[in-house]
Amino acid sequence: MSGRVVVVGSLNQDLVVGVDRMPAAGETVFGNSLERHAGGKGLNQAVAAARVGAPVSMIGSVSDDSAGDFLLRVVEAEGIDDTQIARVEGFAGTAVIEVDRSGANRIIVIPGANALVNADQVRAALEAIPDIAIVLTQGEVPADAVMAAMEVGRARGARTIMNPSPVQEYPEELYPLVDIAVPNEHEIELMTGLATSTSVDATRAARALAEKGVGTVIVTRGAQGSVWSTLSKSGSAGAFAVRAVDTVAAGDAFCGVLAASLAEGKSLSEALRWGSAAGALAATREGAVPSLPDRESVEELVNIRD
Ligand code: ADP
Repeated sequence: MSGRVVVVGSLNQDLVVGVDRMPAAGETVFGNSLERHAGGKGLNQAVAAARVGAPVSMIGSVSDDSAGDFLLRVVEAEGIDDTQIARVEGFAGTAVIEVDRSGANRIIVIPGANALVNADQVRAALEAIPDIAIVLTQGEVPADAVMAAMEVGRARGARTIMNPSPVQEYPEELYPLVDIAVPNEHEIELMTGLATSTSVDATRAARALAEKGVGTVIVTRGAQGSVWSTLSKSGSAGAFAVRAVDTVAAGDAFCGVLAASLAEGKSLSEALRWGSAAGALAATREGAVPSLPDRESVEELVNIRD
């Protein structure tokens, strides 16, 4: 039986507007399509973990309107426990994504309800959820909520995982509360000031973050796989060769499936392999939530390359 994965994070509606060309400042153009998808790093990672079979609870906030209803319907459809998702006044976390004919995009992210997730809510919610194996969080909710997630997760005997995306200003006391940090190359460069152009550099940057107190630091490197370091050891996980069409949510697939795999008792190296397979599969499909793979396809890829 797998322990529970608790995701403390964001839920967004992604509004994707198709245009022939982007408007200039002061100009109005006609758009030719409008789609709404569920997204946000928190929800993406929760869905990734749930699709490979982990029991998942989500802690977050959605607006008290039809956009909030839409997000909760997605949470429910994926079998994720929503009892600790607060309904708040205001507008939904929203990403407005304009895509032109050449595929170039411009994105405006409005944190909305996600900005209202706070430390007290996270503490109370984590106390109320039983059998927590993993607490997983990202950078799309306020830093004090991230801090509370790691602190109470640790106190409850769970393993704590932080995906610092986007990177925020964190207090130094946060790092020793994090068992596993999963930045990409760009994020670890921002956090340590160290370059990551080669795997040796990326491993050195990972070790620098471990020196701040994080147990294990995994740096994801897209099609080049990932490297990891603790204070005393380091290693790498290769990427699965796939035909990538859209790498949106590859990192979210990786984090969610890494968490789910650890929650069911897999070793870190096995969990890295499962996370890498999920990231690769997400890169082969368009979009965020629609691109997240199920257990069968992840398992198939992991086994094919054994
Ligand atoms: P992020 O989306 O946060 O930038 P990455 O792009 O580094 O994250 O992707 C996370 C993981 O997903 C990688 O470490 C790798 O294992 C897998 N992955 C991502 N892109 C590809 C790809 N094009 N081919 C194979 N695996 C990929």
